This record gives sequence, C-alpha cells and structure tokens, in this order.
Amino acid sequence: MNSDEIDAKLSFTVASVWRRERISCPHPHLLQSWLQAGLSGGAKEFVDFHLRESQCPYCNAVVEELRARDDQAKQPVLEDLRDRLLRSTAAALRRSRA
Ligand SMILES: [Zn+2]
Repeated sequence: MNSDEIDAKLSFTVASVWRRERISCPHPHLLQSWLQAGLSGGAKEFVDFHLRESQCPYCNAVVEELRARDDQAKQPVLEDLRDRLLRSTAAALRRSRA
C-alpha cells in the first residue's frame, strides 16, 4: 500500500467517525455560551462531557476557533495601548535627551 492509499483510508475513517459522532454535537452557539461561562445545569454538563470526555475533535476545534476570534477581538485594544506606551516612552526619551 502506498502512502496515498493510506491517507485515503485514514481520512475516510476519520470522516466516517466524525459523521457518526457529530450527530450528538452541540450547536456552535451553545459552545460559544459555554466558552463565555453562560451555561449552567444540564446544558453545561453536556458540553463539558462532550468536549472533555468525548474529546470531540470537531467541537474542540470550534471552541479553539471561537477562543482565537475572541482574542483577536481584544487585540486592537492591546495594540492601541502598546502603541501609546511606545509613543510616550519615545517622547520621554526625546525629552530626557534634549
Ligand atoms: Zn462535537
């Protein structure tokens, strides 16, 4: 068996497992609520179990994606703060040199 055939067989297996597992996947909106600690009771337990015990690759990927997007959303504020710090530091350096 060459590596192409192995790849094809492997991706077929992963795909079929995915399809089977995804029947019970929570909706991405639910994952987002979970990420923002907006779930409680049975819904939270269900998502906890799904992500941690079942280790669903699809939903874990979605959560990672949502988390990354969240970080990106916070980015401009941080960048802005850093820019202002750099500018004021540069200004202070110019003043102390003058
Ligand atoms: Zn899932």
